Amino acid sequence: MRYAILSDIHGNLEALEAVLASLSPGDQLLCLGDVVGYGPNPNECAQLLRERDVRCVLGNHDVAAIDNFGVEYFNPIARQAIVWTQDVIDPPTRDWLGSLDYELHVEDFLMVHGSPERYFEYILDDAAAGRAFAATDAPLIFIGHSHIAEYYQQRPDGRIAHGALTQGGEVALLPGHRYIVNVGSVGQPRDFNPAASFGFYDPEQRVVNVVRVPYEIERVQRKIHACRLPEQLAQRLTLGR
Ligand code: ZN
Repeated sequence: MRYAILSDIHGNLEALEAVLASLSPGDQLLCLGDVVGYGPNPNECAQLLRERDVRCVLGNHDVAAIDNFGVEYFNPIARQAIVWTQDVIDPPTRDWLGSLDYELHVEDFLMVHGSPERYFEYILDDAAAGRAFAATDAPLIFIGHSHIAEYYQQRPDGRIAHGALTQGGEVALLPGHRYIVNVGSVGQPRDFNPAASFGFYDPEQRVVNVVRVPYEIERVQRKIHACRLPEQLAQRLTLGR
């Protein structure tokens, strides 16, 4: 049995469909939040996940979409997109998002959108990773939020090492070491690789695999234009940043 761990889908149906098509039938689907916000298909993405019996935590855009929480911290483009999203999300999506928790413990690992220290904090360097490790005793923590695929390893002596997963790649978990794995973003990658990003975790082999999947970006961009969402949201999909 293997977990497929997705994050930051952001209403990008084409990217989500490409990722789901790459899964095997037995894979168990997990999601680290930000199902909606930015992209043109929030309801369709939420429905696909629900149909797949996903276990999912809340992201900052999900909370903002259902009760306007935290919108004052959004930049003008994100705010414009969340106002649009608030307008279009349907009752089943709203109810489902409203039922989600901020953290999930599955087997030996923890799932949070941003950080176990504060759920919507960004882990972008070793210092933030150190604070996150100190805030939980979970040996393995999966995160999203920054849209950058990477990992932090805490060695038994407490020192922290970092590795990029921009082109995907395997992380074999060493005994006695702890890990924070950012699986990257399905629907709006920001690590200069426009391909959708997500991760597999095999708890028996103790191996994480981050995978990049190309999808039809132009189709999403046409929808962004048709919905009159900000043009920058279309451009950044091509750039992967
Ligand atoms: Zn996000």
